[in-house]
Amino acid sequence: MWQPAERYPDPTIEVLDASFERYRLFNAAVERLHTGCRWSEGPVWFGDARHLLWSDIPNNRILKWDEETGVVAPYRAPSGHANGNTRDRQGRLITCEHGGRRLTRTEPDGSLTVLADSFDGRRLNSPNDVVVKSDGSVWFSDPIFGIAGHYEGDRAEPELPQHVYRLDPESGTLAIVAEDLRGPNGLCFSPDESVLYVVESRATPHRRILAYDVDGRRLSAQRVFVDAGPGGTPDGLRCDIDGNLWCGWGMGRDELDGVMVFNAEGRAIGRIRLPERCANLCFGGSKRNRLFMAASQSLYALYVNTQGAPMIGK
Ligand code: MG
Repeated sequence: MWQPAERYPDPTIEVLDASFERYRLFNAAVERLHTGCRWSEGPVWFGDARHLLWSDIPNNRILKWDEETGVVAPYRAPSGHANGNTRDRQGRLITCEHGGRRLTRTEPDGSLTVLADSFDGRRLNSPNDVVVKSDGSVWFSDPIFGIAGHYEGDRAEPELPQHVYRLDPESGTLAIVAEDLRGPNGLCFSPDESVLYVVESRATPHRRILAYDVDGRRLSAQRVFVDAGPGGTPDGLRCDIDGNLWCGWGMGRDELDGVMVFNAEGRAIGRIRLPERCANLCFGGSKRNRLFMAASQSLYALYVNTQGAPMIGK
């Protein structure tokens, strides 16, 4: 049975490079906020409501954790085997659905608007993760993980290669921005939006994090930002205000379970050990200094001495 650290500093927060020291609070420990999920993904913070939503994909539900009371309750069930979530420039929830093989927006009245479910007349595979740029465009990955079986969606034959798409906010049309990747998964813009990071989950011999230069609506100069190495399993990721990349990680070997932190040069500087593989994470709390980690059957949180990168104002 996992227990939170009783003494500070929490030994599960590891400094791999001296530059990470400043991000670790000496008197903050990893907390388990909830357990009892099957596969946690897609955390998104709603500061205005003081709650966090996250997906429990096999259980076909989105859960809500309330910051004030700590109570966890269903937010949406069935959720279409929802995976990644984010908010758009108007604060609306944007959700990747495996089951519906689509990207949806939740309107203020609770109704769903389908933003995308096909490209070139063929069905999307299973949108996995999503980010919104300051120009309102919606960028998402479309691997086949959610149609590979009946556990996280419905088994089906892919109709499209595994692209990363950009949804234009004005026309509503989709364009491929990264073509035919090997299992495109989590994605994240650098704080100034000059770089897009994309996890390639089926790259061989190791998973890797790719980086691209962002030129308006296009990507260029693809390069390998991080080679995850044997057993390294990045999935979802977020940047802090200094451009460090906080990545859900684990499961290849249990000592790797948790979160890896890389600086903007791609060097590993820190690690948060969790007892379970972490698929995805986000920053939240009223100061954006609390890291929420969706990790297998549980949800964890840790206060850190930095803040999540804010959405850039226009
Ligand atoms: Mg993912």
